[in-house]
Amino acid sequence: MGVYEIKKCPKCGKAYQFNRNGMGGYYGSPLVTCYHCGTVFIDTDVIELAIQGPRKADLRKFSPIWLIGVFMGALMIAISISSGEIDLNCIVGAIIAALCIAFIISEVKNHDKHLAELDKEMKASEARLSNKQYAETLKNAGYSVPEKYLI
Ligand SMILES: [Zn+2]
Repeated sequence: MGVYEIKKCPKCGKAYQFNRNGMGGYYGSPLVTCYHCGTVFIDTDVIELAIQGPRKADLRKFSPIWLIGVFMGALMIAISISSGEIDLNCIVGAIIAALCIAFIISEVKNHDKHLAELDKEMKASEARLSNKQYAETLKNAGYSVPEKYLI
């Protein structure tokens, strides 16, 4: 089972299938050969990990958006308490804060697994780049490839 996205060849405009498996499809070889016209081009959504490094979002232990949720929830509780009565806002605030804390805990727990996946992607990227012909094709297609992969 895979997650696919339809993209278009920049040369001939015909559609091709993009596989979003693995880490959301962000890592892998950005090199695409069009089935229709044979053009070799760079998919700028894909990161050759050994060259560009991981996305910031993949290094975070958790998404900062949950902190905003915790803050909002706490604020709702504080406003409710300061008004002198425990009302619906207080309950809703508590639910929001609790949910966001649960998301933080689950993301922190998943972080190690995430780093292991990233490590696997890094090794695959280095393996691809150890092939000089691949590195040259990548460079010729317009990707910025460091010299060390071209000698
Ligand atoms: Zn094409």
